[in-house]
Amino acid sequence: MAEPRLPFACVTRLTSPYGYRTDPITGEANSWHGGIDLVGVDGRIVAAMGGTVAVSQIVTDRSNPTWQWGNYVCVLGDDGNYIYYCHMADRAVSAGQRVEAGQLLGYMGRTGLATGNHLHFEVRTAKNQQRNAADYLGIANEAGTVTAPADEDSNPSAWAREAVEWARGQGILCGDGTGGLHLREACTREMAITFLYRALGGGR
Ligand SMILES: [Zn+2]
Repeated sequence: MAEPRLPFACVTRLTSPYGYRTDPITGEANSWHGGIDLVGVDGRIVAAMGGTVAVSQIVTDRSNPTWQWGNYVCVLGDDGNYIYYCHMADRAVSAGQRVEAGQLLGYMGRTGLATGNHLHFEVRTAKNQQRNAADYLGIANEAGTVTAPADEDSNPSAWAREAVEWARGQGILCGDGTGGLHLREACTREMAITFLYRALGGGR
């Protein structure tokens, strides 16, 4: 069984961890977050694990709580977990379709209940129990964690590398000595957003 991979084909930042947090919309303390929020610099969401698309839809009826997920895709993974990809701008797969790990599922967006463009990534067992999605991906469950996918096909594009180099030059990102990159501890929200905006091609 293949290990799960990052659900983005490019440099990815974890913006909100799994577990209890202050709700970004209501401000409520200790509100449960059943997945992790990720931002990928090029916005292409790919399958973290091969499987079969169980759901690909948007629910607009607000009496159905899944409307909060906006455009979402759920894949029944080959490992038996249900993997949710939420708030997409657009979906690229249909229910019943076979997908391989790394295959495009859709594009990052902010449909449903979201304060900004991100992917809500959630993993549930066959018994519908939520799992720590960061553990599942093998990344730290901490806001600010920046990860680049390891496989050759998903190397950052030239402009993403350029943006990372720019961010390093600005002191926004720093190396951890093992090839990984982290946001500098003192990085402000403004610096992080500026980096992402620039990485996405804005401000030029
Ligand atoms: Zn979320």
